Amino acid sequence: MSLHTTGSGSPADVAVIGAGVVGLATAYALARRGQRVLLLERTTGPALGTSFANGAQLSYAYTDAMAGPALWRQLPAMLRGQDAAFRARNSMDPHYWRWGLAFLRNATAHRLQRNTLATLMLALESRAAMAELLARHPLSFEHAVSGKLHVYYDAAALPKARAMIECKRAFGVKQRLLTMEEASAVEPALADARNVAGVVHSPEEEVGDPWQFSVQLLHVLREQYALVARFGTDLQQLQREAGHWRLITADGQALQARQVVLCAGIDSHLLLRKLGLHSPLMAVKGYSFTAPCGPLAPTASITDTARKLVFCRLGNRIRVAGLADVNHWDTTVDPVRFAQLVAMARASLPQAADYARIEAPWAGLRPVTPQSSPVITLAREGLVLNIGHGMLGWTLAMGSGERAARLLLERA
Ligand SMILES: Cc1cc2nc3c(=O)[nH]c(=O)nc-3n(C[C@H](O)[C@H](O)[C@H](O)COP(=O)(O)OP(=O)(O)OC[C@H]3O[C@@H](n4cnc5c(N)ncnc54)[C@H](O)[C@@H]3O)c2cc1C
Repeated sequence: MSLHTTGSGSPADVAVIGAGVVGLATAYALARRGQRVLLLERTTGPALGTSFANGAQLSYAYTDAMAGPALWRQLPAMLRGQDAAFRARNSMDPHYWRWGLAFLRNATAHRLQRNTLATLMLALESRAAMAELLARHPLSFEHAVSGKLHVYYDAAALPKARAMIECKRAFGVKQRLLTMEEASAVEPALADARNVAGVVHSPEEEVGDPWQFSVQLLHVLREQYALVARFGTDLQQLQREAGHWRLITADGQALQARQVVLCAGIDSHLLLRKLGLHSPLMAVKGYSFTAPCGPLAPTASITDTARKLVFCRLGNRIRVAGLADVNHWDTTVDPVRFAQLVAMARASLPQAADYARIEAPWAGLRPVTPQSSPVITLAREGLVLNIGHGMLGWTLAMGSGERAARLLLERA
């Protein structure tokens, strides 16, 4: 067994496990504070896991938790596989039941508000951290302040949407409930939407391609912050030894780092189990596709709240993401589910994309906690977890990286 370090002969200050958006943001936050960072990634490049082709929304204002009172109405259809957007695969695994019960405990009005606001605080920190990063290092990733429109078809949902807008206003969030006429003036592509009850407009929401962002941030980290990144390196075990961590990889190497931040997305579940730690994570599989713009392509992001779909403009392409298959742990693309996503997108905004020229179908696993907010905590001496970013990991990555770095360095 060989012993590897960052290359300078002594152990790295910090090893970051996982080169998704969360791992890269964490590596940046640490490197900027003068830490010598070793980044370990199982795949061959940055952001090839869940971060690769997600919905591309930097959803700094719309941080609403997955579990809320509306879940109780949806639950029977979800469990029977009759809800087009949400599915749950039942299982005898005790983790599924423990996680499911904890998720349901969060489906109250009080917890929905508490969890949404907790995530909002992190989202606002993320927006500031992203702006600071881009001021220092202008990265090109089709980043735009496009604004976002949440389209509601059920008038009964509007009072709750209005209450959430009021609640977030106290934190400086700009959102407005618009009529269909007002919303069409903001985004003419909505002319195709039928039976709309109201639209929440969040004018400050941003978008950007997470994969392009990750490739460029990695380049900056290597060139300007002396980050050492090792791809094709699959971490199998973490062992605490006197004053440092020993990281055993699948090919039999032993790496060393004084401290570790775990940012392995959904795969953190297994690593936590190996460490004897509780995993708060459930895999919620989603799908996306990217296609050239259609004749009535939106400029703003659009969320269809009935079909639970997002449309996002990335340059001259449209990305559509959706579906939530709870307790699905593999990333293979189910052709039936993918066809459902395309059919729902066509029904929602028929002219938004050139649906005949869809690029490769994609599926990814959201690492979801019962509260829908990430876990950023010191789990053991010198081991910080930065996991569980669920539906909003791209949005929350920068702020999460900052929080994880502060936590690690305050306790060092
Ligand atoms: C369909 C869909 C749409 C989405 N849309 C949005 C959106 O619009 N906005 C938003 O904010 N979020 C969105 N998300 C959520 C977001 O994509 C995730 O929360 C985010 O990508 C999680 O990032 P991560 O870095 O934690 O995980 P990942 O990107 O999965 O990165 C973890 C990395 O760790 C590596 N790894 C795992 N185990 C090991 C190991 N043992 N050794 C070495 N490396 C390891 C993996 O290979 C992987 O590269 C969406 C997700 C899906 C599925």
